[in-house]
Amino acid sequence: MKCCNVDGYVYISEEDVTRIAAFLKMTPEDFEQKYVYRTAHLLRLRKPRNAQCLFLKEDGCSIHTVNPVQCRTFPFWPEIIEKAGEWEKTGLTCPGIGKGPLIQIGEAMERASEMKTAYPGIYG
Ligand code: SF4
Repeated sequence: MKCCNVDGYVYISEEDVTRIAAFLKMTPEDFEQKYVYRTAHLLRLRKPRNAQCLFLKEDGCSIHTVNPVQCRTFPFWPEIIEKAGEWEKTGLTCPGIGKGPLIQIGEAMERASEMKTAYPGIYG
């Protein structure tokens, strides 16, 4: 939950739009109109004025079961696991890093590759 408050954007994939819209019982079009900012190559959640994410509530993520790939795969992002020193650096703001069960490098790479597939506009 602390990671949801770090300054930045929540990028979403086309599949995220469909899944989250269905969860919220909205059409993808209505969901996009209300919650998504789309550029030529990227989609991201609109950001409220005084917070980082509209879906972050007091008891956590209100769309947890369908949250975006970016949220689900954190901290196994390509830029964190492929660049020396980034894992340790991210650990300074993420209290979960280094605390959970041991993850094999193959699984970490698999999750990172899910990011690359979901966000070609970022990793293309
Ligand atoms: S969608 Fe959920 S997990 Fe992702 S940043 Fe927002 S509150 Fe956090």
